[in-house]
Amino acid sequence: MSRSAHPAGPRHADVLPEGHYSAPADDLNVLDPKVWARTVGRDADGVVTVGGIPVTQLAEEYGTPAYLLDEADFRERARAWRTAFGDDADVFYAGKAFLSRAVVRWLDEEGLNLDVCSGGELATALSAGMPAERIAFHGNNKSPEEIERAVRAGVGRIVLDSFQEIVRVAHIAQSLGGRQRVQIRITVGVEAHTHEFIATAHEDQKFGIPLAGGQAAEAVRRALQLDGLEVIGIHSHIGSQIFDMSGFEVAAHRVVGLLKDIRDEHGVELPEIDLGGGLGIAYTSDDDPREPHEIAKALTEIVTRECEAARLATPRISVEPGRAIVGPTAFTLYEVGTVKPLDGLRTYVSVDGGMSDNIRTALYDAEYSVALASRTSDAEPMLVRVVGKHCESGDIVVKDAFLPGDLAPGDLIAVPATGAYCRSMASNYNHALRPPVVAVRDGAARVLVRRETEEDLLRLDVG
Ligand SMILES: *Cc1c(COP(=O)(O)O)cnc(C)c1O
Repeated sequence: MSRSAHPAGPRHADVLPEGHYSAPADDLNVLDPKVWARTVGRDADGVVTVGGIPVTQLAEEYGTPAYLLDEADFRERARAWRTAFGDDADVFYAGKAFLSRAVVRWLDEEGLNLDVCSGGELATALSAGMPAERIAFHGNNKSPEEIERAVRAGVGRIVLDSFQEIVRVAHIAQSLGGRQRVQIRITVGVEAHTHEFIATAHEDQKFGIPLAGGQAAEAVRRALQLDGLEVIGIHSHIGSQIFDMSGFEVAAHRVVGLLKDIRDEHGVELPEIDLGGGLGIAYTSDDDPREPHEIAKALTEIVTRECEAARLATPRISVEPGRAIVGPTAFTLYEVGTVKPLDGLRTYVSVDGGMSDNIRTALYDAEYSVALASRTSDAEPMLVRVVGKHCESGDIVVKDAFLPGDLAPGDLIAVPATGAYCRSMASNYNHALRPPVVAVRDGAARVLVRRETEEDLLRLDVG
């Protein structure tokens, strides 16, 4: 992520402020296919289109802000993961990235499984007809009610996250007269984010049971003794927005080490290993994500090699991509409300949404790119900060980017790669109405999740 500090050519600044941005692209009208959904382009008038429909038309029909999701792209990415891992592995889409009933149906049709991590996500999955045995239930503090619903529904696996939960799930499954298939989530002492990973001391987090100090081995020991549980494997999830496979290498080495210890102590070879999700996507042109087939090849090789060294039969692998499937498939369309140039600093561009529809910039200092979508422009690039309309100065959507210097109120701008963790983390801050998710495919658009109304807000306010 190289960032040059002082690119040339801004309209409103002689000296640019320090910041994490690259020089402006040669032509701001060009949409980098790395960061945009696959069917995105510009029509003859220069208007951005998705699935063959101009965003000006979508804005008129559905309003702004709106998340516009490229269904064909979603399906292609889901299928690419499924194909890359083949029949000897399972791909679980992480529903927390973005879940709606249509998405559940697409996953079902494309042969993917589904991770849920709350009763609400489970209800969405079941109501859209995802077969329960293809659902995995996650979370570090599932309530007894949630566990009972999951067991009754017959979910394919519950991922156990604590010593208390081992007992809780066993008890509930047994009282319902069954045996629940479970994996045990461990922390392997690896934390990976973006281009780096750290292989010490990252047991210091709320998820999982530490491998260190023999805790994970003790968890397995206890789980194996309980009649209500069928222990099918070990689970590890090391981070998010990962580009570098070396963190997975260390994680797989340590998980396989545990499988070997389990075999030696108990005489059982657990049949499954789940390496979690966290694979990165391109938010800006500086990011270079890997293709699913490269990831599948790398992970399969790592696990196979480690198992051969430990003289274990290679377990069935599962992975849990969320962001890598849905992230690139959607962008957020906003209308510009105000443009405020600050000499020597930057230009603030206020849009009709903000942190209520994209909290990632404020929460994680996430980087995004942005493009003028309702027209093209040959004006000089200007350094902008795209901000929302909320009462909070940290209400930033795109921290540092370039837009054409003639940007004006009424223009539509689009922020790509907002398919993951934007609508799913959206809030009603300032009583904002959460935007709709509109799926576009082959020249037709349909609403997956409608825009909230003031009536929706007031319905909850029963005082
Ligand atoms: C969040 C999460 C994922 C998905 O992460 P992405 O970065 O969206 O791929 C997968 N598995 C678990 C256990 C998670 O918590």
